[in-house]
Amino acid sequence: MCRELFWRFPGSASFGQQGNQRGLRPILRQMTCSQILHFFCELPIPCFRGLRVPNFEFPGIRAPSLRFLKSVTFEDHQISVMSVKADLFQSPDYFAVDALFTEEHRMIRDAVRAYVKKEISPIIETCAQEAAFPEHIVKQLGALGCFGPTVPVQYGGGGLDYISYGLMMQELERGDSGVRSTASVQGSLVMFPILAYGSEEQKMKYLPRLASGEWLGCFGLTEPDHGSDPSSMATRYAEDGDHIILNGAKMWISNAPFSQVAVVWAKDPSGIVHGVIVERGMEGFSTPTTHNKWSLRASATGELVFDNVRIPKTNIIPGVTGMKGPLSCLNKARYGIAWGVIGAAMDCYDTALRYAKERIQFEKPIAAFQLQQKKLAEMITEITKAQLLNWRLGVLMNEGKASPQQVSMAKRNSCAIATQICRDARQILGGMGITGEYPVMRHMMNLESVITYEGTHDIHLLITGMDITGINAFK
Ligand code: FAD
Repeated sequence: MCRELFWRFPGSASFGQQGNQRGLRPILRQMTCSQILHFFCELPIPCFRGLRVPNFEFPGIRAPSLRFLKSVTFEDHQISVMSVKADLFQSPDYFAVDALFTEEHRMIRDAVRAYVKKEISPIIETCAQEAAFPEHIVKQLGALGCFGPTVPVQYGGGGLDYISYGLMMQELERGDSGVRSTASVQGSLVMFPILAYGSEEQKMKYLPRLASGEWLGCFGLTEPDHGSDPSSMATRYAEDGDHIILNGAKMWISNAPFSQVAVVWAKDPSGIVHGVIVERGMEGFSTPTTHNKWSLRASATGELVFDNVRIPKTNIIPGVTGMKGPLSCLNKARYGIAWGVIGAAMDCYDTALRYAKERIQFEKPIAAFQLQQKKLAEMITEITKAQLLNWRLGVLMNEGKASPQQVSMAKRNSCAIATQICRDARQILGGMGITGEYPVMRHMMNLESVITYEGTHDIHLLITGMDITGINAFK
């Protein structure tokens, strides 16, 4: 016999959907975990449905032990605990960075944080384990204003500043880098080029739909043979009256399998790069999914394949030519990443700190050992430095004074320290650190993509190197 318990921890447990079992609460209070499980084994199936026990605390059971309680066999009954996840996140703020934000910033951040706790945390581990993109969140993210927060209101955007945008990305990536990637691609890589360089018709057609999440977009720059050096791209088009004929392929494209629209960078017959808006359904355009990723598993990645795709010339983005187009988009997205990955780092730090205080070895919490304190102290130091760097970068972005090189430095720094923090947090959690019971290994694996895409760690180092020496070391 197999029955399912749905646990929400801490504070409440709910078991199914119907029935009135209020009288159970005081009884449950008296019982041990084993007795509770036994008790439910004895109930007829309808009694499982509808029993809610709000604010119920399981006597004698500590959070860590419930967290990994997945399935219990009690006498002849196997009970599967379907959901034990609780999002206990508490945001670290060691230098009172909060005081640098306006009340509006804090409200926006808290709204996204609450959304992540309610809608992302309960599902994200399963999505990542199953490599499934939670498509339903696209409309939710649109409704929350996470798509194109800095886009003017007249086009469906939020009309917000860059610190608001950064805080949104921080909170989304605290949930999962894949969720933040979906929002970054939509806002910075698809909506931004249409806003900055598109015709008025393009803006009116695409931006409101993308802002609301009615349509999902993707950004095609990387190719199978051209990654860090996208200017060598092979995707190109020929002219055919008032149409173009597009041929080529893009690889590693976030959102591709679920996108209605793609902003694709391709060369014209004279070899000059242009942005082209390609819509799903155009003949010869396909978006095969990329499988077997160990990273960003809750984000859909795919290819864009163009086989003589006939596209109206009105779909060419008119206001920019050359690599300035895609690079200016990447600048906006890198800014969001600089903030976003600190969210992942904060989640790993918070998880590791809580775990270290609860986990007893050698008759002490492991937080009492100097080696673990060193890891935790270095984590919070790096998080704090990055929070301040991001805030300053946000101020410069708001003033229109941030250089692409400053954005590049922040992206590189945030990714490097977040990657290290996740790895250290994973070690603090010991064996539990490799499981899906905690978010740490998922963040750690995600960040291997984030430190690679939108310019690798080394490429960003070369950008800083070129900026300070004046010497190009790329070639
Ligand atoms: P390569 O360019 O082949 O680099 C390999 C290694 O060589 C790296 O360590 C790099 O630093 C190093 N290297 C390269 N050139 C130099 C040099 N001059 N000097 C020193 N070292 C060098 N692309 C998109 O267009 N749209 C997307 O939505 C998108 N999403 C992605 C999602 C995921 C999950 C991933 C993994 C990638 C995504 N990308 C996307 C692609 C990403 O931007 C590229 O993977 C990245 O730019 C690196 O290119 P590459 O993988 O071809 O590596």
